[in-house]
Amino acid sequence: PKTWTEPPYYTPVPEKYYGTANSTRRASAAIVILCRNDQIPGVRMSMALLEQRFNHKYHYPYVFLNEVPFSEEFKRNVSVATRSSFEFGLIEPDHWFQPDWIDEEKAAKARKQMKSNKVLYGDSVPYRNMCRFQSGFFFRHPLLQKYRWYWRVEPHVQFFCDIDFDPFLFMEGEDKRYAFTISIHEYKKTVRTLWPTVRDFISSNPDLIAEDNALEMLMERNKNSVTWNMCHFWSNFEIGDLELWRSDAYRKFFEFLDSKGGFYYERWGDAPVHTLGAALFLRKDQIHFFNEIGYWHVPLTHCPTGPAHARGNCQCEEKDNVDRQGGSCLNKYDELFLGGT
Ligand code: GDP
Ligand code: MN
Repeated sequence: PKTWTEPPYYTPVPEKYYGTANSTRRASAAIVILCRNDQIPGVRMSMALLEQRFNHKYHYPYVFLNEVPFSEEFKRNVSVATRSSFEFGLIEPDHWFQPDWIDEEKAAKARKQMKSNKVLYGDSVPYRNMCRFQSGFFFRHPLLQKYRWYWRVEPHVQFFCDIDFDPFLFMEGEDKRYAFTISIHEYKKTVRTLWPTVRDFISSNPDLIAEDNALEMLMERNKNSVTWNMCHFWSNFEIGDLELWRSDAYRKFFEFLDSKGGFYYERWGDAPVHTLGAALFLRKDQIHFFNEIGYWHVPLTHCPTGPAHARGNCQCEEKDNVDRQGGSCLNKYDELFLGGT
């Protein structure tokens, strides 16, 4: 039987993308950090590791986004954390705040209910604004218009291994469009009507759905029905093609979802929305799992397995790894390529 450390699950980054820091060739790419002014320590932590493991050699620019202006203190802290260039962007109110057409009474009722059900961020409006912004708007920000590729980084994450290859040039060269390190199950209570809504979208837009797409990894087949298994790529880490989100198909998809109000009447996350979008509009082989990138966001770790671990000089233990644990969906991703059940 195949082991999980063999291809195709483990599709290593080809040699030609390693050691390219000395060449002047770079992708049109930015590291994008959405954050608040009070997250300076977390931003410093993420940047320190990203710089140490990758960007001190590659010098990709940073774009910081916020719905309020960044403070002078924030800017000062960032400016000493990297020798790359950086820009600070303000998010326009329409892209962030709860729209007027949302029935606030209904939304408030949902928040109250989720709070009593102890749903994480269940009663938070800002969190919902954030999820909607990341789902449908970040890629429209003026500061991102000059870029094709982005790496989403959050405050307070860790990178455990040297990244001696250029992930953006890898994506470009290998025709990848969306990449993840961790894939897990969503809390059901936050997305009750998301799948039925997506199903409606699919039936009214069959021509927009990609051939050979990745939907199968998100499907759970019961006796008489096919539902979503709650698997999603954990979007606090993403390396992706902005053109995917800017495509007519995805925009139409987002607008359809947004019009149902589920970002506020439930608590639809950007992770499931991006995942469903990538699964609908990309070929499955355009979605990539970066085994080589050791990553932590509370409370989960992806630590590279196989030869990538030693090569990356990884400061994580292979056994402290969500990849093959119960909550992980990586096996579902593998099955896409193994043709298993
Ligand atoms: P979690 O990862 O789902 O627990 O949520 P986080 O609190 O980490 O938020 C996700 C991302 O959105 C992080 O990059 C945060 O810095 C950012 N974020 C969350 N809420 C806000 C907000 O109200 N304003 C801004 N500007 N960024 C936010
Ligand atoms: Mn986070």
